[in-house]
Amino acid sequence: MTSYPSLHMIIDGEKVSGGGRRTFDVVNPVTGEAIGALPLAEAADLDRALEVAAEGFRIWHKSTPQERSAVLQGAARLLHERADDMARIATMEEGKPFPEARLELMMVVHLFEFYAGEVFRLYGRELVRPVGMRSTVRHEPVGPVAAFAPWNFPLGNPGRKLGAPIAAGCSVIMKAAEETPASALGVLQALLDAGLPKQVAQAVFGVPDEVSRHLLASPVIRKLSFTGSTVVGKHLAKLAADNMLRTTMELGGHGPVLVFDDVDVEQVLNVAVAGKYRNAGQVCVSPTRFIVQEDVFERFRDGFAERAKAVKVGDGLLDGTQMGPMANKRRPEAMDRLIGNARDKDATLNAGGSRIGNQGFFFQPTVLSEVPLEADIMHEEPFGPVALINPYKGEDEMIAEANRVPYGLAGYAWTNDVKRQRRLADAIETGMVGINSHMIGGADSPFGGVKWSGHGSEDGPEGVLACMVTKAVHEG
Ligand code: NAD
Repeated sequence: MTSYPSLHMIIDGEKVSGGGRRTFDVVNPVTGEAIGALPLAEAADLDRALEVAAEGFRIWHKSTPQERSAVLQGAARLLHERADDMARIATMEEGKPFPEARLELMMVVHLFEFYAGEVFRLYGRELVRPVGMRSTVRHEPVGPVAAFAPWNFPLGNPGRKLGAPIAAGCSVIMKAAEETPASALGVLQALLDAGLPKQVAQAVFGVPDEVSRHLLASPVIRKLSFTGSTVVGKHLAKLAADNMLRTTMELGGHGPVLVFDDVDVEQVLNVAVAGKYRNAGQVCVSPTRFIVQEDVFERFRDGFAERAKAVKVGDGLLDGTQMGPMANKRRPEAMDRLIGNARDKDATLNAGGSRIGNQGFFFQPTVLSEVPLEADIMHEEPFGPVALINPYKGEDEMIAEANRVPYGLAGYAWTNDVKRQRRLADAIETGMVGINSHMIGGADSPFGGVKWSGHGSEDGPEGVLACMVTKAVHEG
């Protein structure tokens, strides 16, 4: 039986807690009750972390690729060994079903394994110059990174926020979400246990705006990496501008899914429904707007609603649960508001629409159809278990709807027409496109958006290069 661990920060390798610091109650979303008290950083804690991060960069930017690779490989091995316990803790904090949490941890394992190899491939290039002269272009680690990770992937987000700077030779101060601290601490602990010098990666928690203002104002920090909402991302980008920091911004989405009338509707539903209700829809690349060609609209809508009603919702630690509660109190409140507003604007409710029970943060898998553009949910990222299904005539109209919103993270399309598949891959304005597939990531593939969904990539070679700067050296 896994029990929920005691909570702390990790500054200079030390577990920091108590000392009269303010605390934050970590809540189990199944019950809504507190399971842990998280210490929050005071200004002095952040100053200490900054000083240590400066030292960490001096140490780690001189590390060999072999040293970095060994740490990443070692951490991957430890995470694999600790997977069951860590996944259970993630479920206790965030609510997602245990198998989803375990899969998420395995994605961190694969990312660290990929980066363990990638550190040997951070090539520069030599320019063609006359004999006797030499010009080279090289990548160097950018410096200490401030990284902010949200709660929806309590293991995966910290894995990304720590893995890339460490592979690049940077130091990093991570502030993971206060709602899911134990998972983030578990990922960092595995890196420290695998031999990462204690100055290189640290974890602080706090009042988010206090922490980000403090860290980003420091001359020590050279890069901001943020995952979260577009509103907060814009705010942090402005703070980062004052110190001209490099930024990686992985922000919200409003995933379009184009479904054409030449597909096997049942096959698409099998993938789309599972994708929609994964992590109770609290996924930045969640399929959200189903843009369905009119000939298959009714069949698609009815099949979706039927499957939504059959999704088994419950405690993520129990066998057979397909969807857990939402992660925190704010999410069902947002669902009530967005669904209520859509119904006021004459959207049809085909499934769900309400909270389940009066304990914890459970919400029904929901389907809304014929949702008018005037509804807030057609513009605002729902970040919850709601599918929006509307009928459209043909390709041009469907592409226009896909690109209507200012977001551009992930887009999906289903069609068996090969030429149309290519047109759609070109036309959909998102950082990631899935054609006849909702699998759009992987350790070796860049993950990131365009437009209001942010800029820069995580994962893949691009994720490490985002923590590096370019230097051109010309020798006469
Ligand atoms: P939020 O926007 O307040 O917070 C999102 C994340 O940003 C949290 O982890 C929070 O701790 C952090 N944060 C907030 N203010 C910050 C600040 N000033 N400095 C540093 N970090 C800060 O909202 P929320 O209620 O936690 O989540 C709601 C919305 O956030 C969702 O509707 C969704 O749009 C977005 N979100 C996106 C992702 C993603 O993967 N892109 C993940 C989580 C949340």
